Amino acid sequence: MATTISSAFDSGNIRVVGQDGDRFDLEIVKDASSDFYQWFHFRLAGAGGREVTLRIVNCADSAYPNGWPGYKARLSVDRETWVQVPDCSYGDGVLTIRLTPETDCVWLAYFAPYSMERHHDLIATFSSLPDVAYRSLGQSLDGQDIDCLTIGEGPLTAWIYARQHPGESMAEWWMEGALEKLADPDDPVARVLRKEVTFHLVPNMNPDGSRRGHLRTNAAGINLNREWHEPSAEKSPEVLCVRNAMDAARPDFAMDIHGDEAIPANFLAGFEGIPSLTQRQSDLFKLFSDTLERLSPDFQSRLGYEIPAPGQANMSMSTTQLAERFGCLSTTLEMPFKDNDNLPDPVCGWSPERSKFLAHACLHALHAILPDLKKA
Ligand code: ZN
Repeated sequence: MATTISSAFDSGNIRVVGQDGDRFDLEIVKDASSDFYQWFHFRLAGAGGREVTLRIVNCADSAYPNGWPGYKARLSVDRETWVQVPDCSYGDGVLTIRLTPETDCVWLAYFAPYSMERHHDLIATFSSLPDVAYRSLGQSLDGQDIDCLTIGEGPLTAWIYARQHPGESMAEWWMEGALEKLADPDDPVARVLRKEVTFHLVPNMNPDGSRRGHLRTNAAGINLNREWHEPSAEKSPEVLCVRNAMDAARPDFAMDIHGDEAIPANFLAGFEGIPSLTQRQSDLFKLFSDTLERLSPDFQSRLGYEIPAPGQANMSMSTTQLAERFGCLSTTLEMPFKDNDNLPDPVCGWSPERSKFLAHACLHALHAILPDLKKA
């Protein structure tokens, strides 16, 4: 039987540019109307029991070339469990994946995918709970709803939103973990949080990019996390509808959930360079970060992004825009595509399960800083 590769499905992305039996040369396809690419997701069929060599040949010009050294592709035989491909190496702009599939159909991806079908399952599960309210905040350019789940009845307001960058699928695994914990009727931390805080959760800010297999942009090739200063109905309705909803329910606390291609660690990014930065905001950010570091062995604060100079913040990004607009504690969480090198898992690397545990830890940290957050 001939070996085939296909990606014409939810969040699929790859192009076959050469095949010699069980050796394939592949290219990752650019996001529509954009030069970004790094996300791949495809099925390898008909090669059960035979060694296959897959070469992704256009890595050098991808969005984050530093994402490839030390990276291992993810593999699944059942589309539930995803493991690292041990024989995966990078050199001269080519990621080479060698494997002998156990079965005739296996799936490979940049990270464990979180499909739009699973997103609908998530919304179905949580919107049906008696203490969770559902609303659509608006629609994407492809006509998909921007789903928002509200839970809790406290005086504080929290907005947690994920997947502005659709290829960062760990972000929606994190959201699934956060929802499972927040909705648990018996969890003591969740019970206190629901009493003190009203949570608005947007599990997927970019459903079009997710379904299309994009790395970083929506259907029009727009990077949503560069639109927060002036979102528009034409280019970025996803951001416009969420920001409008935030204007109507102003956040005291906000988290924007992402994945980082290059850095093998979990870290937070903040809002240091905003024009009207207050000491209270800076203190709360440090307190949240320190608390999370104490609570989770998967979190650290040593590795991260360069901190902008005073007044030099990029106000088109959500975390800076919300910190400036609302004077709130606003954070970006970055999780690795590779692994957390401080606590590595050679089999799975960073994973959906670990993303969920990190979500639990973030909610514990929020619980721990509630007394400080309540002080004006
Ligand atoms: Zn991102």
